Amino acid sequence: MIAAQIAAAIGAAHVLTGADIGEHYRIDIGRKFSAHPVCLAKPGSVEEVSAVLQLAHAAAIAVTVVGGQTGTCGAAVPNDGGIALSLERMKFVGEIDLLSMTMEVEAGAILQVAQEAAEAKGALLPLDLGSRGSATIGGVIATNAGGNRVLRWGMMRDMVLGLEAVLADGTILPCFPRGKKSEIACGDCVSIQQTAAECAESKESNSPSSSGERMVWKSPVFRSSSVSVSNI
Ligand SMILES: Cc1cc2nc3c(=O)[nH]c(=O)nc-3n(C[C@H](O)[C@H](O)[C@H](O)COP(=O)(O)OP(=O)(O)OC[C@H]3O[C@@H](n4cnc5c(N)ncnc54)[C@H](O)[C@@H]3O)c2cc1C
Repeated sequence: MIAAQIAAAIGAAHVLTGADIGEHYRIDIGRKFSAHPVCLAKPGSVEEVSAVLQLAHAAAIAVTVVGGQTGTCGAAVPNDGGIALSLERMKFVGEIDLLSMTMEVEAGAILQVAQEAAEAKGALLPLDLGSRGSATIGGVIATNAGGNRVLRWGMMRDMVLGLEAVLADGTILPCFPRGKKSEIACGDCVSIQQTAAECAESKESNSPSSSGERMVWKSPVFRSSSVSVSNI
């Protein structure tokens, strides 16, 4: 019943049931947890995510987002009788703006793909994990992943400037500032194009919590060269 309703909303080709639901969507990588969801939905847009959640909400059926399933604690394993929601069709890596040093990435994109897109533009998406080839942007944000550059660059949420989120009842929240860093941050913005000397001067003249300094940490994309200037 719910699977048919979801199929009508997002297309039958994007809704799987029974044995067609692969292990990735039912079992965690440690193979400690498993489930039998009523269906797997693969929406292709924010509106389709909203449609799935509206239907699930009306039917009081739990929905679990399944990302790369690298979380290792079973959090992405759906409930028995629940709905597995995969954003794997929503993997677009959009504009990389070298002026504001930001990038827009859909939640289903693989972290490594986003890293490589930034690198191709001479920028650095600092978050890096051993699971980079499987973990999704939505997953690393949801878990606030740290990784092997965390001491220098911070956790994933330190790099998030905005989100387009869908609530459990299907409401779409466009908390997604499209402005430049200087508009997003309050006060002065430390430009990543600064030289090391300018950056050091800026750090001396600002308190550790000043917005200028924080912007270096908050920007999702950095020029590779900024690695040498951003931190002490
Ligand atoms: C080899 C390896 C190395 C790792 N190294 C690190 C590390 O150094 N640091 C670290 O912090 N973690 C590390 N991890 C853990 C893991 O990679 C992270 O937790 C990762 O952030 C999970 O991303 P995922 O896409 O696989 O999410 P999943 O495991 O699929 O999901 C994790 C949780 O996020 C939710 N979720 C997923 N996508 C969304 C979305 N779009 N919207 C809302 N909720 C969502 C899921 O429902 C679930 O609750 C490692 C894992 C492995 C296997």
